[in-house]
Parts: sequence; structure tokens; C-alpha cells
Amino acid sequence: MKIKLARTGGFCMGVRRAVEIVLDAANTRKGPLYTFGPIIHNPQIINLLEKKGVSVLTDPAAAEQGTVIIRAHGVPPDVKDSLKQMGLNVVDATCPRVIRVQTIIRKYALKGYHAIIVGDHNHPEVMGLLGYAEGRGLIINRPEDIPALPDFERAVVVAQTTQNSRVFSEITREISTRFPHYSIFNTICDSTSKRQLEIRDMAKEVDAIIVVGGYSSGNTKRLAQIGKNTGVPTFHIERDSELDPSLLEGRNTIGITGGASTPTWVIGKVFRTIENLSDSRAKGFISALHKTKRALLLSNLYISVGAGCLTFACALLLDIAPTLSTSLMAALYVFSMHMLNRFTNKEAKQYNDPDRAAFDEKYRPALLVMTVCSGAAGLIMAYFLGIKPFLILLMMSIMGMLYNLKLLPGETRIFGRFQKIREIPGSKTILIAAAWGTVTVILPALAAPTKIETSVLFVFLWTSLLVFVRSAIFDIVDTQGDRIVGQETLPIVLGEKRTLRLLKFLLVILIIAIPAGYRFDLISYFGYPMLVCIFYMGGNLTVYERNWMFPGFRFEFLVETVFLLSGIIAAGWLLLIG
Ligand code: SF4
Repeated sequence: MKIKLARTGGFCMGVRRAVEIVLDAANTRKGPLYTFGPIIHNPQIINLLEKKGVSVLTDPAAAEQGTVIIRAHGVPPDVKDSLKQMGLNVVDATCPRVIRVQTIIRKYALKGYHAIIVGDHNHPEVMGLLGYAEGRGLIINRPEDIPALPDFERAVVVAQTTQNSRVFSEITREISTRFPHYSIFNTICDSTSKRQLEIRDMAKEVDAIIVVGGYSSGNTKRLAQIGKNTGVPTFHIERDSELDPSLLEGRNTIGITGGASTPTWVIGKVFRTIENLSDSRAKGFISALHKTKRALLLSNLYISVGAGCLTFACALLLDIAPTLSTSLMAALYVFSMHMLNRFTNKEAKQYNDPDRAAFDEKYRPALLVMTVCSGAAGLIMAYFLGIKPFLILLMMSIMGMLYNLKLLPGETRIFGRFQKIREIPGSKTILIAAAWGTVTVILPALAAPTKIETSVLFVFLWTSLLVFVRSAIFDIVDTQGDRIVGQETLPIVLGEKRTLRLLKFLLVILIIAIPAGYRFDLISYFGYPMLVCIFYMGGNLTVYERNWMFPGFRFEFLVETVFLLSGIIAAGWLLLIG
């Protein structure tokens, strides 16, 4: 079964911005925090915010002093003023595109125009827009409403940003025939029109469409209706547990999309459910392949083998003899630390990677034993490699254990902000990269009869940067879950676009470093074949950026394969040069 994921599905810019404003405020809040009405029409987000102590304010008189956040839909100006007059700290998260419509209505209202809003009666955005019309606004939502329209001397026509583009076209065509002097502004947000266009296009290539989103979300309902109108079986569900596998029986290609208020992780759960269903329906070799791939990723064995392979490749870069013991030590350390991180950072995993969270819960005792044993075995191996590798690995293991733990008692904070190392912005990506660089380059070099010199530091930096790119790709994928739990990863600090730009820049540095390193005798000639890994990583970035693959198991497998690839290249190199 093929899965086709809509590029436009999920949070639109305005909703993402509003949710991020609320989550950031919730993670740093000092007093009561409210959203004025539900921040979006999505029950999962509302429940989540409730758990984080964010209340939905429906009656401003009931609010204690505190902060109130205005949602992406916006509010009438008098409501905003009265909230301020009540002494509340008002944070306006109105979408900039809704603000544009408000501005148009206000500008024309001040010139005496009437405002005709094409939208849903009682929709919060429409109610907010109406407030800017100086009492001269009215709402219509179908062509049949036009004959009843008064013939105004001057009027401006605008649309609710999530209005059906075809309905708006029909209405405005009719209006411009009857009232050619009216000024018409198509204020449908392109995020909505692109989403609607995509579902129509998608319908030509799929056998069924799943629309994910809240049942009370107008734009999601509209999307499901457009899907149904195409004639392709379309199912509107709110969450993965509502997916009925029998509905997908005998279908070859399934399309998935989501409303503007559907979180990525909710769409992700639906995607993974269908991906698992597809894998379970596969037969023979393909089925075995999917199951093995899943088990290797869930158990962290794949990434551990990858660490061993990278250690092997780094030895060739340094021109020292690769040994099984250094590769094994790296694999054991990486296994135990990544496992430990999963156990101490369960909350984010539930949003970012629910399958892995469920796997950890199911096999918790066995995985805990494996974590402790592999950590201890790694240390024993380091001890036999020398006292320096042992002490460094011991220190790194202690750091790894402390990473998710409170360092100081009570509410004491380092620099007045941080209680845990993980709370330092970007720390996760940087520390993982440095730990991998140490265990795959520095420790094997210390164990070899070679001095720690510039070439070792050079390869350490090169390897750490490669691992940094790999970890940052997963950070980008996990942004929503990390933001929910208040973890400031690189993409949260820099934003997704800037992080992607940074990663591309680092890949260029990694490429340039190879000939430069060889030229200055810092790495062996083996650096050139290792360029394949950099181009491979660049390919993964492209896959993510162009949305060619949803970040499920298949994408994770693709990214993690870079380290295995380095081992395969190293083995091939050794065979080649004898
Ligand atoms: S649909 Fe468009 S206008 Fe509405 S909140 Fe999203 S980005 Fe803003």
C-alpha cells in the first residue's frame, strides 16, 4: 500500500505561530495564563494546554490577573480593549493574514463603506472581522444569500480566510454582476486554497483519502467535503485510534491530509498507523525486511551498529589500524546513552515518536537491563584500552546520566534559567555530536600507538559535525513535541528554515574539509570515498525539505543508514587496497 501525504496538511503558518506563542508562554509562565477561547479547534491541543495549566477564557470577568493570549482567529477591537482595561496582560497571536482582512475592513469602514464578509455565521474569525466594520458589516455564505443583499452605495467584499475558494468565486461573480461598483478582495489565505487544491489533485492519484482534524474545525470539515465531492472515498477522523483498517482493505494508494489546526504529531500517528498496516500486509521478503528494520530502529541496535561502523571508518581516516574493540566500545556506549535518553525524556517521545514510547513501555525491564549492561560493558572495554579512554568514557557516561536530571535542589537555577543541562538551548544536538566524536575518534586514537595531534582533532571535528547534522535533522522532525515539553532544540531557537540553511552550510564545510584535510596531511586518502556519506546526508535533507517522505520509520531508517554506509565504504576500501 502506498501512502501519499499532502504537502500542505497540518498547521498553517498562523495556527503554528499561535500555538508556539501559547506553548512558549506556558513553559515560562509566572502567573495565570489564558487563551481567549480555544486556541484552535483541536481537542488534542486543548487537552495538552490544559495539562500545562493554560485555561480557556470564555468570560473575561472570571479571569484573575494574568496573561491572556488572543488566538489566530483574532477578536473584535472592543473585546481586546476591554481585556486590557481589566488589567490583563494581552498577547495578540492573531494571524498576520487575518490582521490584513481586519485592516481592509477598518480602512473602508472609516470611509463609510459597508463590509460584506463571505464566511460562516458565528465563526470566531468572522465575529472578529465584523467588529472592524463600524456596525456596517453583514455575513453571507452562499450564492442564494445575494438576492437579499441591500444595494449599498459603497461596499467592500472580503472572505473569511478559510472560506471555500469555489464558493467565494461563485459569490463574487454574482456580486460583480449585480453590484459592479463594490470593491472585492479575495482574502482567502493561500494556505487554505493550496490545501483545497491539493486534495482535489490528490484525489486523482489515490483510492481513498483520510482527512485528519477536529470535528469542530470548519476548515477540516470543508476539506473532507471537498474530498467527498471528488468521488473518492474520504474519511474524516480526529485521531489515529479512529482509523478503521477494513476501510482501507483492497486499496493501493491512500492519501492523507490534515486541517490547518491539526498538529503534525496527530497526522504523524495516522501516517504511522497506515505505514504499520501496510508493512503488516506485505508478504514474504518485503514483510521480513520491514519487521527487521522496525525492530533494529526501535531497539536502538541500528544506531549502535552505526556507531561501530563510524569508528571503523574514522580509524581509516586517521590512518590507524581499526580494531573490533574500539568499534564495540563505541557501539555499547551509544546504545546505553541513547536508551537512557529515551527513558528520561519520555514525555517528548510520546508526541514525537509514539511507537517508540509504546515499545519502551512494553519492554521496559529488559531494555533497562540492556542499558545498564551495555554501559558497564562499554566502560570495561574502555578500561582495557587504557586508563585515559576509561576515565573519559566514565565522565561522559556521568554527563549523560545527569543530562535530564535536576542539577541543583529546589528552584535554584543556573544563570537564573536552567535546572537541567537539557534546558540549555541547543545542548542536545551539540552534546550528542561531541559525545559521538569523542567515542568514535578520540578514544580509539588514545588507545592506538599514536599521539593526540592536529589530525585527531580535525577528524574529531569532522565526525562531530556529521553527527550534528544527523541529530539536527531529527530535531527538526521533532520540533512540535520538543516545544510541548519546553526543550529548546536548535530548530526551536533558530527556526526550521535557518536550521536547514545551517545544516546545508555545514555539509559544504564537511565537503571542503576533505581535500583540505588531505592536502595538509590531516586525513588519509580514504577521506575521498567518505564524501559519499556527505552527499547521502544532503540527499536526506532534500527528501525532508521536499516532503518526499513523511518522517516515519522509513525516513528514520534512511537517515541512520549514513553510519552503516561509512562502515561499508571502509570495508570496501580495505578490500580494495588489501
Ligand atoms: S488559514 Fe491562513 S489566515 Fe487562517 S490562521 Fe492559517 S495562515 Fe492564518
